Amino acid sequence: MSYIQALTEATEERSGYSPYRLADMADCGSPDRLDSSGALFLCSVRDAVMEHVTYAGSDWDDDSMPDMIEKSFMDNGIAHEIADGAPDVYTFTRWAEFVDLAAYQEVPEFGEWPEDLTDAAGVALYQIAERLVSALVAEVCEHLRNYEPPHVNYPHNPGYLHDCPACESRCYCTDDPGHVECVYCAGQSEEA
Ligand SMILES: [Zn+2]
Ligand SMILES: [Zn+2]
Repeated sequence: MSYIQALTEATEERSGYSPYRLADMADCGSPDRLDSSGALFLCSVRDAVMEHVTYAGSDWDDDSMPDMIEKSFMDNGIAHEIADGAPDVYTFTRWAEFVDLAAYQEVPEFGEWPEDLTDAAGVALYQIAERLVSALVAEVCEHLRNYEPPHVNYPHNPGYLHDCPACESRCYCTDDPGHVECVYCAGQSEEA
C-alpha cells in the first residue's frame, strides 16, 4: 500500500455510490429512479470529482496528498468549475433535473435568484452540485488522513528506521525513561 493506492481505494469506493446516497450527501431531494435526470446529474458530478481527485493527488505520494487535493479544488477553482458545468444546457433537461432533485427547496446562497427562471434553476442546481463536490472531496481527504503507511519490509523496531514511511509518519517514543528518540522526533528537531 501507498498513498496512491489509498487514493485509488477511496475513489473506487465512492465511484460506486448510488444516486440516492449522493442526494443525501448533497442534501437535496432523492431522484426518482437510478437513471432519471437528477440521478444522472449527481452521478456526473461524482465522476468529475473522482477524476479530478485522482489527477490532483497523483503527484503527491505522501501525507501532503489530502492537503494538495483540497488546495487544488479550492484555489484552482475546480469545485466551481465542476458545479458550474453540472446543470444541463438544454432547458427541458435542466428543469427535469430541477424537479427531480427538488431544487425548488433551495435558498439562494449568492444574493437574489437571477431574474430569468431557467438561469435561476441553473443556480439552484449549481448549489446542489457544489455541496456534493465539497462532501465528496472531504470524504476522500478524510480517508487519506486516516491512512497509515506500512513499515518497510526489513526487520526493525517500529519507530527506529530512517526512510521507513511508517516510522517517519508519527511518534513512536514511549514514556520509558532513557528511551532513544524515535526517527520521527529526530526529524522534527532537525527541522526546527
Ligand atoms: Zn518502520
Ligand atoms: Zn518520538
